[in-house]
Amino acid sequence: MDPKEKGTPGEDLPRRLQDMLRRANVNVVFGSPLGAAGAPTQAAAGDTEDDEGRRRVLETVGRFSLKPREVRDYLDRFVISQDEAKKVLSVAICDHYHRVRQCLENPELREREYAKHNVILLGPTGVGKTYMIRCLARLIGVPFVKADATKFSETGYVGYDVEDIVRDLVKLADDDTEMAQYGIIYIDEIDKIANKAKDTVRDVSGRGVQVNLLKLMEDTEVKLLSQTDMLGQMQAILTMQTAGKTPKRTINTRHMLFIVSGAFDQLADQIRRRLGRRQIGFDRGGKAESEDPAEYLVQVQTSDLVEYGFEPEFAGRLPVRVALQNLSAQDLENILLHADNNILEQYESDFRGYGIRFAMAAEAATEVARQAHEEKTGARGLMTVLERTLREFKFELPSTAIKEFDVTRETVADPKAALATLLTTNRALQTDVLRTEVGEFATRFNREHGLTLQFEPAAVEAIVALSESSGKTVRALCEERFRDFEYALKLISRNTGKLEFPVSKAAVDSPDQTLSQWIMDSYGRGDGGGGKAES
Ligand code: ADP
Repeated sequence: MDPKEKGTPGEDLPRRLQDMLRRANVNVVFGSPLGAAGAPTQAAAGDTEDDEGRRRVLETVGRFSLKPREVRDYLDRFVISQDEAKKVLSVAICDHYHRVRQCLENPELREREYAKHNVILLGPTGVGKTYMIRCLARLIGVPFVKADATKFSETGYVGYDVEDIVRDLVKLADDDTEMAQYGIIYIDEIDKIANKAKDTVRDVSGRGVQVNLLKLMEDTEVKLLSQTDMLGQMQAILTMQTAGKTPKRTINTRHMLFIVSGAFDQLADQIRRRLGRRQIGFDRGGKAESEDPAEYLVQVQTSDLVEYGFEPEFAGRLPVRVALQNLSAQDLENILLHADNNILEQYESDFRGYGIRFAMAAEAATEVARQAHEEKTGARGLMTVLERTLREFKFELPSTAIKEFDVTRETVADPKAALATLLTTNRALQTDVLRTEVGEFATRFNREHGLTLQFEPAAVEAIVALSESSGKTVRALCEERFRDFEYALKLISRNTGKLEFPVSKAAVDSPDQTLSQWIMDSYGRGDGGGGKAES
């Protein structure tokens, strides 16, 4: 069988699955017709889920009316810099979804030849390639899925085959096949499947994956269940049995938008050489050649992509080409200060979860951006630096009384020292918190065991001092020191009727000794020193 011919629940149901279902006493009529292979299945009468899906489609892409400038303005809220990319993508997205809307309004249009605006994004890591597309998918309200091209294998026998990404899109759309037809598929690291000369083994599979992707980018019916997805096949059969309806079997890729991306470092060099050749004798005004690959990538042509190792048809199906710029330290600072939903807001929200607020001074943001820029991972560097700066604060502060702090330039330069200063300045506050935590332990103990621990002031101070010197929380210290109290005090309580137990400093220092004494007393063999009887 052709490896691409995937089984369908009834007809080609693998024998293994048939046996499993029989063993599980699931009554399946094997070989029941589920609609012609390769053709979209008509929804059964009363199939409200599909109706629901169609309604959602009409309400989103069916009403798409945005103009490129509006889309660009939306991107501006989230994405810093990349102005050219924003423009090109806004136009591509508008073209694509206006076409989709027109096809929904006039189904005859579907049959007319139309070159889709599939996009290739070229540029370094962490500069907003995925982020921009994610923002666009959210704006339009369509599902979005991302995969790495390196994951694909040509046959699908081992690993992931290109059609699996369409199935993933459907899963991400909560099995809403109607909506998934208009989704966005994003494939990263596309430069890794270029057919580079001399790279013999990968060559073959790289070309194969390109050919398979090409089909997908055009107009293909993809079976919703892969033959290897046994669980999915079983579920489909069970749905068919219980709901009495035929699940949709295929999905068409005609209206899906495909975006591929990659860093293409060597491509920049290649274009530089091409331009160099062309410019022999051209006076460059003595200017030094730019080291920024993005400057060359913007000038990419189909012939460059073909020379790089893409099939001409494949390169040809990616008419919208966008080269993204490296982000400067200033861009990174602008992301922190001005982009909606940026990583700093995420940290603020994490701290707010503990009731803690922090304010980042302007010069601290500059320092974060400067350090992030040195990471050379685009905006991802911001995450690295913020994590380095705030990790210890996140660990320590929730257990303290500190509810506010400032992130200054010094904090970013030396987070450990800044935290130590913060903790020292708030020591008095902190001691109060620790004292309260001793009381909280007693309250919990009483709630769980019905016995009252009355910590004497000296005992509280002893626990607080222990917590401060060991760095352990009061809760952990008390649970460790008084772990035998539950059973011992219950025993004493049975013997004597006592429900309240004063805890002295001696009990904190040597809990075992104290308990032994109390137990002996409760059997009338000691000379007091334990609890007092409840009146
Ligand atoms: P890549 O270019 O490798 O696809 P991403 O788009 O996934 O990188 O960027 C990683 C993260 O960095 C994003 O989730 C986003 O938070 C942030 N980011 C990247 N570029 C920008 C940008 N130009 N403006 C604002 N945030 C950005």
